[in-house]
Order: sequence, then structure tokens, then C-alpha cells
Amino acid sequence: MTFPPLREELVGLEPYGAPQLDVPVQLNVNENPYPPSTEVVADIAASVAAAAATLNRYPDRELVELRARLADYLNSSGGSGITPAQVWAANGSNEVMLQLLQAFGGPGRSALSFAPTYAMYPEYARDTMTTWVQGRRAEDFSLDLPAARELVLEHRPSVILLPSPNNPTGTALPPEAITTLCEAAGDGVVVVDEAYGEFRRTGTPSALELLPRHRNLVVTRTMSKAFALAGARLGYLAADTAICDAIRVVRLPYHLSAVTQATALAALRHADELLGRVDDLRRERDELVDWLRGRGHEVADSDANFVYFGRFADRHAVWQGLLDRGVLIREVGPDGWLRVSVGTPDEMAAFRQALVDVTTQGTSEEQA
Ligand SMILES: *Cc1c(COP(=O)(O)O)cnc(C)c1O
Repeated sequence: MTFPPLREELVGLEPYGAPQLDVPVQLNVNENPYPPSTEVVADIAASVAAAAATLNRYPDRELVELRARLADYLNSSGGSGITPAQVWAANGSNEVMLQLLQAFGGPGRSALSFAPTYAMYPEYARDTMTTWVQGRRAEDFSLDLPAARELVLEHRPSVILLPSPNNPTGTALPPEAITTLCEAAGDGVVVVDEAYGEFRRTGTPSALELLPRHRNLVVTRTMSKAFALAGARLGYLAADTAICDAIRVVRLPYHLSAVTQATALAALRHADELLGRVDDLRRERDELVDWLRGRGHEVADSDANFVYFGRFADRHAVWQGLLDRGVLIREVGPDGWLRVSVGTPDEMAAFRQALVDVTTQGTSEEQA
């Protein structure tokens, strides 16, 4: 054993994360580009000040009020009849998913997803010593249902992770896909990660609608994207009460600080305003998809606040060329493809101009 006594399978690994670079146009981590208004900032600040006066005490371990308000919100956003006992929250949906793996994964068990997908999933599996099984999506990034079902029946995973809309492709799953996998999973849980759920196109349903039909279905959401609150770190889920109760066994005591709870409650009071830009972002996204297609790019249909496009013989050169022009996007997923987050109209104009420059004038290396 060498020092520090790192687990063998972690030796040499780099921490996960997109580059945090200080450039004018940041379109790389799917944040909402609109900061909270002065009114919302003032209410959050006042709520946090009130919480600060009680910081000698531990926070509410069961998040009673927050879970009730999140249930109200979910019932107005695709769900119905969801009770506070069916809701759980943590520091970002990333922590929610880690807790799911801590409760339902572990040695001798497996977790399954379909690539290309969210790069954090295999890390939750690794960190909880859960075997990672990865299927593949079809060429158009949809799920090949018969093949997916076969894979589930073969491996019998205790957790299946399905982002919908998927990151990095933007692809939403049809309800039939979720139903098929919930049935194939048996007693395993099926986690539909709706981090981008609020951005779905008109006519794309939320998996929340299926909750009453499948007791093994978990739908996760986050305040990091549509809610424009990535810095606060608040993610949550809706599921059968038995699933919430199981997570309560593995969560750290007082995992969600009084400051975080106060911030999230204040933000939920202003949900209409914080979510007010979602329609603008959806419109901007649809325009971007059309524009990219008009320029001859291949573009995946998107139900999210980002667009996945290609294909480039040298995508790194395109990414670098954009960065040289002050526009940061994301190099992720299958070779040849790039992902760009939807920003303000000004940011999108800067992106379009930079992409035109890069693809018509060539990249910095070619110029050099
Ligand atoms: C951004 C994102 C999340 C959200 O993570 P938080 O921890 O809630 O900020 C979850 N899942 C996917 C697929 C994402 O892209």
C-alpha cells in the first residue's frame, strides 16, 4: 500500500468536471443564463438571515417544510397527488443519485445505463462499489427498446439510470420506454433523471405522470437548471414512500444545511419568476436547432436547454476555435459531436458568429 492509501481502482483518476474558464460567453454546463432579480435576491437574503439566527442548532433533518413545498411544485409541473413523504431532497440531484446507489447498489449488485449519457453515473457506481453495466443508445440516440429490455433481463440491475431529456444528446424518452423498463426491472428501481424536465417540448410528457403506475419508478429533478439556482445545490426526487424511507437510512445526518433549506424555500416562493425564462430558452433552443441544420450540421432533437450537434472531423479544433473567440462550449460524448448550452440572445449571437468564423475561416492551428 502506498500513501495516501487510496482504493486501488481510484489510483491515477482525475476528479470529474468541465473546465471552469473565465471567458465572456460560457455555454458549457447548461446553466440558466439569467441571474435572479433583485427582488428574489432580497427575499433569499432575508430568509438566509433568519436561518442564520438559528445556526447554533442543527437543521430540520427531515426537511419537512421543503418536501411539502417541493411536492406542491411537482404537482404543478407534470405530477399529481404526490405527497411530501414521496419527496426527498439533497445537495443537488447528484447527491440524490449517490444516495440511491448507496441504498440500492453495492457489492454484488449492478447499475445500468445507456451511452452516450451523463458521465457522473459510472462514478456513483464506482464510489458505491456497484458493478457498472452500460448499454448503447441507437444511432439517433433513442433507446432500442427490445435490446434495452434484453440487457435488463440479462443483468438484473438493482438501479437503472435514464436521463430524460438525456445529457448530452437532449433526447427525451417516450412513456412506453419507461413503462417497459419499469416492468423489466422487477424489484430494481428505475431512475428517470429529469434534470432538464422543465425544458421539454410541448407534447413531451414528464415521467411524473407514470409514478402512480410503477412503485419502482424514481423521478429526479433539480433546481440547478430551469430554476436558475445551480449555485444553491438543491436536487430532489419523487418516488414511492418506501424508496424515500430507504434513502433516509443512508443519508448523512443533517445533510441539507439550514441555509440551503432557507434558500430553496425562498426560491420556491418565486418559482413563477425563476422559471419565467424557460419559455424564452425553449424558443431560443428551437431557433438554434433550425439554424444549425440550415448550415448543414447534424443536430439531435432537443428537449433540453442545450443542443448536441456535429459532426466534425476534428471537434477539438472547433471547440478550441470557439474558445479562442471567447465562447466556451462542451466537448463530450461520441467523437465528432459538440454540446452547446442555450444562453441569452446576445450569447447565442456570439456563438453563431464564432461558429461561422471557425467553420469558414478554419481553426487557429490551420491558420498558424
Ligand atoms: C446538470 C445535471 C444534473 C443536475 O445536477 P445537480 O447536482 O442537481 O446540479 C443531473 N443530471 C444530469 C443528467 C445533469 O445534466
